Amino acid sequence: MDAAARARLIRALAGTVIAHADELTGLDQAIGDGDHGLNMKRGFETVLAEADTLAAQPLPAMLAGIGKTLVMRVGGASGPLYGTLFLTLGKTLPEESGMADAAPALEAAVAAVKARGKSDAGQKTMLDVLVPVLEELKAGGEGLPARLAATAHAAAEATVPMRAVRGRASFLGERSVGHMDPGARSSALMVEAVVTWLE
Ligand code: ADP
Ligand code: MG
Ligand code: MG
Repeated sequence: MDAAARARLIRALAGTVIAHADELTGLDQAIGDGDHGLNMKRGFETVLAEADTLAAQPLPAMLAGIGKTLVMRVGGASGPLYGTLFLTLGKTLPEESGMADAAPALEAAVAAVKARGKSDAGQKTMLDVLVPVLEELKAGGEGLPARLAATAHAAAEATVPMRAVRGRASFLGERSVGHMDPGARSSALMVEAVVTWLE
């Protein structure tokens, strides 16, 4: 993978998050404080501005660099959590990484998000997308990219009937039911961006 391919990955990730900022904010208006799209847009605009510098580094360093920027720029609950995700991916991936390294790296990154958020799947958060995507990735096999995208999309939809027990949405209790979790949606968007980039 060369610097141009890494820069395309950054543009795919940042582009989709920025393009869906209003939608993410709308979701957060329903069950949170209405800033998720703004938070993510701010972070990924900085990532985009640093794209060439980030992409000049090997993939692990680039991912860690994205994580650092997200921690500094996104804020809220999601900034440290997405920051942890990317930082851990970067720390775990070997320098010369291939597809076989993706599952162990995501496994470590999801575990780090769980530890940081004191959370797990089933609580109506980004983990309700990240955990099933990890399981699908570990399963491997035919048509994996398309299956990862479908899993991410369905998993975000599946947060609609859930009751939030972590994050601001948990303050709403039963009233959090019936809305998609904003972080689940942003995670699904990022998975879809990676898949499109892979294909
Ligand atoms: P804030 O809630 O501080 O305004 P954001 O709106 O940017 O932050 O992000 C909210 C999202 O963060 C939620 O939709 C949820 O997916 C995720 N989130 C919040 N708390 C946790 C947690 N403890 N573990 C995992 N994800 C969390
Ligand atoms: Mg919010
Ligand atoms: Mg907030």
